[in-house]
Formats: sequence, structure tokens, C-alpha cells
Amino acid sequence: MRILVSDSRAAPCHTPAFEAELRELAAGALRGLADAGAESEVLDASAQTGPADPAAFDGVLLLGGGDVDPALYAGDTDEPALDGVHRPADEFEIRLIEDAAAAGTPVLAICRGLQLANVAFGGSLIEDLGKDSFHRIHVDAAPMAVHDVDIVPGSRLAAALGATRVPVASGHHQAVRRLGRGLRVVATADDGVIEAVEHETAWLLGVQFHPEDVAAPPGQLQALLAAFLRACRDS
Ligand code: MN
Repeated sequence: MRILVSDSRAAPCHTPAFEAELRELAAGALRGLADAGAESEVLDASAQTGPADPAAFDGVLLLGGGDVDPALYAGDTDEPALDGVHRPADEFEIRLIEDAAAAGTPVLAICRGLQLANVAFGGSLIEDLGKDSFHRIHVDAAPMAVHDVDIVPGSRLAAALGATRVPVASGHHQAVRRLGRGLRVVATADDGVIEAVEHETAWLLGVQFHPEDVAAPPGQLQALLAAFLRACRDS
């Protein structure tokens, strides 16, 4: 089982603290894949010169990172809270999602990954949830917030986690605004913020939260990866 892991932590616009936090999250995700018996190949999305070939892999995992360029969804490029925008990484990862969907390669997308998937399918994002939002990330390297999400019964996410309300580790200041084509909402926070989406036909699951963070409930990453890798095996 070979998983293509796309990561944009090395984007030149990131602060050292943000890059360090992203490195730690990536390490958690890669450990999870290795523990589940999957091989991973990590691509630095911020330094690619051509498209990847997701069809050459069993699955694609997209990790968190900076904000998606609002110009890609006709959003507000002047929003002062925008952080870590790196257009080449956005374009590489959006193409990767499109190509994976076309090839029938399963996609698990975390945080920025979910936001990219939504934009890839024509959706838009809330540029900033505001400083008082309990989802939090206005301070570099701050510990994640933990909040509950409600999961839609019968969704892939509900099946993977075996529950319809779970705590999650949250570190984001953006969220889905208009949903992309073919996507459906499968989890929301108590303030209505979209916390997970799935594609209606392709195996694509995006979570706004961080199962790979140390603050996530024990076993959440393993449960999500197990569902993802099962789909990779069966596709
Ligand atoms: Mn959240």
C-alpha cells in the first residue's frame, strides 16, 4: 500500500513556528500510516514543477498548511487575517485532488486539504472566522482547541469513527462557505461551522480538524486511517 502524502509546510512564506508545528503534525500522520502498514511518499507541494501522478499510488493524503489563495474562489484577497498563502502549492494540490478523483484514487484531506478539496470542486471559503472563534489559530504554535462535532449518521465519517458526536482537535481560522459540487457536509461544530465533507461518488473525505494532533482523542487517527486504507485497498 503506497500513499502519496502532499505537504506544503516548507512554503517560503511560513514563519519558523508555523513550519515547526506543521512538521510535528506531519510526523504524527506519517507515524499513523507506518503503524497501519502503509508506505508513504511525501511531496513538498510548495516546490513542485509539474503535476504528480496519483494513479501511481493507492491513495492520497493531504495535510494542513497555510491559507488557500482567495483569488482561487473569488474571495477577499485583502482579508488582513490571511496567512501563509502560497499559490504554487495551491495549484499543485488542487490539480492533485482533481486527478485523484478522475483516477478513482481515494483522498483523505486534513484541514487545508479539506479547504483545497472544496475549492477544487468549485466551492468557496470563509476567509476568517474571527478572533473570538473557538476554532482558533490566530497565534502561531498555540496548542489546538478541543471542541465537539456532530457527525451525520450513515456517513463514511460516522462509520469510520463509530460515533455521531466526538471531540476533535481544532486549529483553523477558515472554513467552508459555499460547498463544492458533488460534496456533502458530514460534520458540523456547534456554531454551524462545517467540520467534514465527503464526495457523493468518489472516495474523498475531508476533515477540518486534526486527528494527527496530540490533542486528538486516542484512536481517532487510527480509525480514520483504517477506513481510508480500506478504501485504498478496495479501489
Ligand atoms: Mn473546528
